[in-house]
Amino acid sequence: MTALLEVRDLSVVFDGFRAIDGVDFTVDSGELRFLIGPNGAGKTTLIDIITGLTKPTTGTVVFDGNSLAGKREHERVRLGIGRTFQTSVVFEDLTVLENLDLAASFRRPLWSLLRRRKGVIAAVEQALETTGLADLAPRKAGVLSHGQRQWLEIGMLIAQGPRLLLLDEPVAGMSSDERARTGELLTSIAKDHTVIVIEHDMEFLRRYASQVTVLHEGKVLIEGSVDEVRADPRVQEVYLGR
Ligand code: ADP
Repeated sequence: MTALLEVRDLSVVFDGFRAIDGVDFTVDSGELRFLIGPNGAGKTTLIDIITGLTKPTTGTVVFDGNSLAGKREHERVRLGIGRTFQTSVVFEDLTVLENLDLAASFRRPLWSLLRRRKGVIAAVEQALETTGLADLAPRKAGVLSHGQRQWLEIGMLIAQGPRLLLLDEPVAGMSSDERARTGELLTSIAKDHTVIVIEHDMEFLRRYASQVTVLHEGKVLIEGSVDEVRADPRVQEVYLGR
């Protein structure tokens, strides 16, 4: 496997407070990587730096061999970096299909109109199939259940054709059935994408995570399998509160 994302010696200082402190973080192409850590560990800040929302104080982020220094958020989206937020971004008055169509329209704007339309339709179909939302395509997003809405957001991300997906707590607030379905969805997406997931739910991690990175006080505490990470006394102390 080759590295799709390489974060080197990254730090960010907010008003003298080091939220990210010398982080090295590499994710290979095709990985499904989970990022965990207690509140305030720096997980969201790390994702914000990768997507260009926050500028690092020092360090580099390299995506597919190219430095992202100076690249703005929309340029990173075009390069293939997509994210979901904890707050919903779906348009409630539009249907599932229209939301996906809109999201897909953001990809490859330089195509001719005709090719672009074909590309959009193909991207929407792929997103509907991957997320299993085809039956709900004509429904307004505003009537979806919490789980369905989360899957729509993931579908909107897929429709943009990213190579790297960054998902912030995708199973928060979900029922156990919805969690299981989301786990299957992430596993399926990771077959042809690289995925980084911020998640707290240990049971979910145990079932679906292979590689886990633990952040604590802005630093990488440990990386490894779920079992390795859980067995580490430092993780038990800072993360599991034991
Ligand atoms: P996590 O996602 O792991 O809960 P965050 O990345 O949100 O952690 O936050 C890491 C630390 O950085 C926290 O102490 C938070 O208060 C601080 N922080 C995050 N963003 C800012 C900001 N824009 N200005 C000042 N402090 C911030």
